[in-house]
Amino acid sequence: MSHFDIIVIGAGPGGYTAAIRAAQQGQKVALIEKDSPGGVCLNWGCIPSKNLIHQAGQFASLSAMEAVGVKVDRSSLDYQQVHNQSRDVVKTLTQGVKHLLKKNQVTLIQGTARLSAKNKVTVNDNTDYSARHILLATGSRPLQLKGFECDEKTVLSSTGILALTELPQSLVILGGGAIGCEFAYVMNSFGVKVTLVEALPQLLPAEDSEICELLEEQFKRAGIKVLTATRAKSLKKQKNQITIQLEGGQKPEKFNTDKALVVFGRTPNTESLGLETVGIQTDDRGYIPVDSHGQTSVPGIYAIGDITATPALAHVATREGEIAVNHMLGNSHSPTLDSHSIPSAIYCEPQVASFGYREQDLQASNIAYKKSVFNYSGAGKSIAVGKPEGVIKVLCDKQTGEVLGGHILGHNATELIHQLLLVKNSELLPEDVTAMIHAHPTLSEGIAEAMAGIVGKPIHG
Ligand code: FAD
Repeated sequence: MSHFDIIVIGAGPGGYTAAIRAAQQGQKVALIEKDSPGGVCLNWGCIPSKNLIHQAGQFASLSAMEAVGVKVDRSSLDYQQVHNQSRDVVKTLTQGVKHLLKKNQVTLIQGTARLSAKNKVTVNDNTDYSARHILLATGSRPLQLKGFECDEKTVLSSTGILALTELPQSLVILGGGAIGCEFAYVMNSFGVKVTLVEALPQLLPAEDSEICELLEEQFKRAGIKVLTATRAKSLKKQKNQITIQLEGGQKPEKFNTDKALVVFGRTPNTESLGLETVGIQTDDRGYIPVDSHGQTSVPGIYAIGDITATPALAHVATREGEIAVNHMLGNSHSPTLDSHSIPSAIYCEPQVASFGYREQDLQASNIAYKKSVFNYSGAGKSIAVGKPEGVIKVLCDKQTGEVLGGHILGHNATELIHQLLLVKNSELLPEDVTAMIHAHPTLSEGIAEAMAGIVGKPIHG
């Protein structure tokens, strides 16, 4: 039986980065993966979806070219090629991961792993490996609800829609979370008739309500039919047509659509991991409980990423891997996960990005705060590049001025948010931001103007 210092199960953004980090610190590491390295993120999540969003944005911007006399035949769009490009990007990045693993001398073992004892892992039911520490990073898959099961032909999960090689005429998206909003933007940009249905009163239920109201307005203006506070009651397939019955909202509706995208959430891959063999119990939704270092109830066995109950985000999985490896190696300068410093990024247009308290949280907790909302249109750059819609919203402690939350809706929000987060993490104050010279014209000037709204008044607000 081969022995390693650390065995990692699952080569997603949590597992593969943890394996590399441990190997860089002199550990003998095995990484076991049943599919392609990179996990959901690189293969069927973050990366291919962001490529489609990029291509959708380019396609949508052709109409701006028409305004300056460039005639483009948009009917010649070949979606098979759009799809091919997204898979090429995946290939480039997954090969990059393989290269990094090799360079850092991580042993990549292809196969399905399960725990067979406290320090033992069995792969493909026939080969055993032992290790001092085991890191579980097996990720998640689309949540399937009764009556809304995905056949990946007409009723699609996020994986199925990424595998589409032809555009449907119409698409109903059930679930207005991050994935639902991103695909609503993609498909609408490519000319598909999109209806986006969310059971809760706002799109992106985890985000600030004021931002989501603005997003809903923008989506509607772009031609997406948005139905919030509306629940999907049933879904029936007849030949190539789907009928969806909705309840709630203003009136009950029945839809006929070519395809449906069902994005109700994710469920953790924890049931075939042999957890019971070592005495690890999951919670009622299948997540593995861990302490602040990612250690499970069994010392020496850690769990990170989508199989724990923290936000299902690639950068959370990566940070949790780093924390777990540090703890395994007894490093005293171990980073920890501060839930208020986790950025959230949604890449539809306009983009949504945030961290920390939402305004509704501050109100519910009776925390005294100061708020500043700066309109993108006040930053000359947003007008120059034709993206004037958006806001930068900053929430600060009323007494100290400390940044409590940042929320941005608009072009490049997913990049800009890090400036606000750096202010918070470095314990800077709004005055520190306004004192810094910002290049003109930039969207970053909007950050300074939003901060000026906390300490006084913005010039362009
Ligand atoms: P995963 O990425 O799920 O990887 C787990 C790996 O474990 C898989 O490769 C799997 O094959 C392997 N595995 C499972 N069981 C076994 C076993 N028994 N033996 C061996 N191998 C096994 N997050 C963001 O931060 N930003 C985004 O923009 C973003 N976009 C997304 C878009 C979509 C469409 C989807 C679906 C998700 C998106 N996410 C995004 C979420 C992100 O993909 C996940 O949070 C992230 O991949 C979780 O990483 P992980 O390492 O926990 O697990």
